[in-house]
Amino acid sequence: MKNISLLGATGSIGIQTLDVVREHQDEFTIKAISVGKNIELTRKIIGEFQPELVSVQNFDDFNTLKAEFPHTNFTYGDEGIIETAVYEKADILVNAVLGSVGLNPTLQAIECGKTIAIANKETLVTAGHLVVDAAKKNNVPLLPVDSEHSAIFQSLQGEKEKNIERLILTASGGSFRDRTRSELEDVTVEEALNHPNWSMGAKITIDSASMMNKGLEVIEAHWLFDMPYDKIDVLLHKESIIHSMVEFHDSSIKGQIGTPDMRVPIQYALTYPDRMPLPSGHRLDLAAIGQLHFKEMDLERFRCLKFAYEAGRIGGTLPTVLNAANETAVAAFLEGKIRFLQIENLVEKALEHHQTIDYPSLNVIHEVDKETRQYVQSLL
Ligand code: MG
Repeated sequence: MKNISLLGATGSIGIQTLDVVREHQDEFTIKAISVGKNIELTRKIIGEFQPELVSVQNFDDFNTLKAEFPHTNFTYGDEGIIETAVYEKADILVNAVLGSVGLNPTLQAIECGKTIAIANKETLVTAGHLVVDAAKKNNVPLLPVDSEHSAIFQSLQGEKEKNIERLILTASGGSFRDRTRSELEDVTVEEALNHPNWSMGAKITIDSASMMNKGLEVIEAHWLFDMPYDKIDVLLHKESIIHSMVEFHDSSIKGQIGTPDMRVPIQYALTYPDRMPLPSGHRLDLAAIGQLHFKEMDLERFRCLKFAYEAGRIGGTLPTVLNAANETAVAAFLEGKIRFLQIENLVEKALEHHQTIDYPSLNVIHEVDKETRQYVQSLL
């Protein structure tokens, strides 16, 4: 039996993690969860999975739920997320929160020796060096949940690092893959939220449309697989069937393929190095799909991806700025305050404005993250 602490239980990855747990109740138990403001769904999760500890965002919700569920322990706020992450009866932390708020809880859980299944890419983007160093020092496995990184991780099983030629991340292209740059001027929030292949949360769906998601994933791959940026390529693949690939020195390419279903990489992280059936999953029917398409990535069309490569290569605090600026700009777009292409303009301005600090400590990262958010807010 594996005991799970789940951060971000009411988000898209959180819900799909609970789906996996529901299918394997003899294998997994949910011991602790953290949630945001979706209290209605939290009630259902508590009723079904009976976690011992629940962390909510607000004090009011904490009081409400405490009165309703007297046999459950509750906590709240940023400290509550950390309490959930380090909950002593959990062996594995599934970090499915959104944004760089996942950083502190991840670092604390690593210090406590928990296995980390990481879906929260912003944590690795904003402070990859700290997370990877802490994981090495504490001998803690960092298991990817993101579908591309899970595909690479699966393709690398049994392989030697010295034989890798390059990683190839595939990109569906998001909601606007068939539009030109000028056609992006007036796109609406609703259009951006309509992803052709994957069912995901709002922020990541916008990031997919701007290609920032792939940029964050390039930086995530750099840290997870200790790979230099010139050995990480991105290939457009609109069907999202090949989830990513590894090319080796002898020109062999291994990839992981399957239906676009996030429950597969989530389950692999939970069962690694084993596998389990996923009874409600759909089998891939390649004959029915017939054709797969691939196209070179255009970094002028998708400028956010170019910014991410640049920020990753320079390193230091620049990826922190990239991420914080993007989180702020995407939130503003979702609130209808800016237009779609302004997301990349704001990210570009924040990157230009910043003086990079090398080898930043956790405090410096938090400071730069805060300053960047304020700077982007001031431009709105
Ligand atoms: Mg992904």
